[in-house]
Amino acid sequence: TLPPDCPPDVEQLGRSTWTFLHTMAAYYPEVPSYAQQRSMKTFLSTFSQFYPCDHCAEHLREEMKSKPPRVESRWALGKWLCEMHNIVNESLGKDIFDCNKIDERWKDGPRDGRSKQMKMLSGSG
Ligand code: FAD
Repeated sequence: TLPPDCPPDVEQLGRSTWTFLHTMAAYYPEVPSYAQQRSMKTFLSTFSQFYPCDHCAEHLREEMKSKPPRVESRWALGKWLCEMHNIVNESLGKDIFDCNKIDERWKDGPRDGRSKQMKMLSGSG
């Protein structure tokens, strides 16, 4: 049976997509190869053409013109994405996220907590 909240609206799609993007950035190589850097650039460019919220994608493409993706390291990509997300947050009147906390939020979890995500992605249990 279909879930009651289908199809996804802009908010639901946004939450899911940010989860994917930030998690992908959190697991991007610390020192990516040149080929990996090119692939990530291509991915983000393609993503910004096909993201299925037209005005969101248009806004993203505009921002990417003046702030092209930083793909030279895991930290650079995570910070760039955090800044992109903060631009959207600001335009929607949402809180600005502290970009020093991206690993805690998207990779390691709280210091005293268990890291479900790391377990899931490493396949260790
Ligand atoms: P979200 O903004 O979806 O964030 C999810 C979680 O990410 C938060 O709970 C927080 O823990 C974490 N987070 C928040 N900020 C950051 C950050 N800077 N860095 C790292 N983690 C962070 N909606 C529109 O109405 N208009 C738009 O133009 C628009 N453009 C979008 C462009 C893109 C590329 C995407 C992916 C989404 C866009 N959205 C847009 C959707 C919007 O950004 C939100 O996803 C949606 O409003 C739901 O917001 P939320 O409060 O649940 O949290």
